[in-house]
Amino acid sequence: MSAVFDLLVLGGGPGGYRAAELAAKSGMKVALVEKDRLGGMCLNRGCIPTKAYYARVIGGHGRIESLWEDKEEIVSRLREGLGTLMRMTGVETFKGTGRIVGTGELKKLEVSLENGSVLEIEGRNLLIATGSRSLPLEIEGSGLPGVITGDWAVALPELWKSPEREEFSSVALAGAGVIAVEMAALFRGMGKEVTILKHSEELLRRVDKDVKKKLIQNFKKKKIRMVDSFRPERVCREGQGLRVQGTTPNGPEEIACDRLIVASSMIPVLDGFGLENTSIRADRRKGIAVDECMRTSEPGIYAIGDVTGGMMLAHLAEYQALVAVEAMQGRTVSIPAESVPWCVFADPEIAVVGLSEQEAEQRQIPFVAGRAFFLGNGMALAMGQSDGFVKVVAGKDGKLLGVHMMGPEASSMISEAALAIRHGLSVRDVAYTVHPHPTLSECFKDALFRTLEELEKK
Ligand SMILES: Cc1cc2nc3c(=O)[nH]c(=O)nc-3n(C[C@H](O)[C@H](O)[C@H](O)COP(=O)(O)OP(=O)(O)OC[C@H]3O[C@@H](n4cnc5c(N)ncnc54)[C@H](O)[C@@H]3O)c2cc1C
Repeated sequence: MSAVFDLLVLGGGPGGYRAAELAAKSGMKVALVEKDRLGGMCLNRGCIPTKAYYARVIGGHGRIESLWEDKEEIVSRLREGLGTLMRMTGVETFKGTGRIVGTGELKKLEVSLENGSVLEIEGRNLLIATGSRSLPLEIEGSGLPGVITGDWAVALPELWKSPEREEFSSVALAGAGVIAVEMAALFRGMGKEVTILKHSEELLRRVDKDVKKKLIQNFKKKKIRMVDSFRPERVCREGQGLRVQGTTPNGPEEIACDRLIVASSMIPVLDGFGLENTSIRADRRKGIAVDECMRTSEPGIYAIGDVTGGMMLAHLAEYQALVAVEAMQGRTVSIPAESVPWCVFADPEIAVVGLSEQEAEQRQIPFVAGRAFFLGNGMALAMGQSDGFVKVVAGKDGKLLGVHMMGPEASSMISEAALAIRHGLSVRDVAYTVHPHPTLSECFKDALFRTLEELEKK
């Protein structure tokens, strides 16, 4: 079988399926190749499963007893929707493993289908969206049952089915990033003993220092144990559980746990799809090198999402899809890194866009900051969720540089700040926009007015 497409998309995660949809809607003939399930890591093993658990364990929506079953239903409903979207937009979907076997004017993909047959498809453009995977822990015992990587942990029924079961009661998480923090909050919410094994003293390295301080206080209050600067050396079986042995600057340390989840780093997927048959520049950690239009070093080949390294976020992958498809049609759209928001679904939520005070300092940008607390917000008090604050960082010229939220609905509220930063608005522009009452968004407005006061002092 042979067909010529305008675009071949390799990988059906949020980057790939969004690119396929956009390109097809703009009139391109599109083929999408996915070896596993549509929706990629985000839908099947990442964002959506974790938030289905989060809504039940921390948000108080739904039943903890049916965590797994509810998650399965949500994920399969969304996956079906994606299948329909691909069909409705005329994207031809191939369930199989794609491998680049030819570049040049026409790019060639060899697709090994599930039924064992192999076909070749050709396209004028090729977009690589193969995602990322957890960096494995390369120490003795890392292959033992009970040692699980962060990219698969949410898809393992043994961890989430019937959470009241006692056969695993303690979890150690190796890592200090978003995945480790979210899982720590989830497992603790499910009543498990949780230990975070941090590779340095940091937790969520890129968040504002006040947010970090409060997160650590909250974790301590919830009796989540944190071990700083832990270097794992060996994992061994101990009865039904595990013992993780390593060192800290204070000497040897051992942690007993029933499950060890390795959630330290994600690395781009660069193998298994014939990258070696191209001249595309790539680095094991930093991923495929792309320009601002997501073009690789090989003409007509684009790469988006986690495979390009940097901030590994589903919504960024989707926007990079937009950038790439626009570029294929001769238009330039850019996504400034400072305007990309990111969220941490802990208790309470954390949401960030733009620069922190520390980052402004490092870049030698003179700044002021203002803060408002949810304790003074009518809606937060009415909801019984008044823990947290909003912090605004602004340049001395009044330009909004960064917004840091920790509190109820922070992940939804950050979009207003992202819009403001994306369009270079000033603190005054946003503060002088009417915010409805009584809403959580008034806490952001109050932080903006505090920042204006600081600006007037200088
Ligand atoms: C536990 C967890 C929670 C997360 N939570 C969030 C969150 O709340 N918000 C957020 O923004 N991000 C979150 N992420 C990150 C998010 O999942 C990723 O950033 C996102 O999925 C990246 O999209 P992508 O399209 O680049 O790749 P992926 O979603 O990884 O999709 C890549 C696809 O390519 C396919 N593929 C690979 N090689 C081939 C091949 N040779 N042939 C055919 N198909 C192939 C894979 O099967 C996969 O389906 C989370 C991640 C994890 C692990």
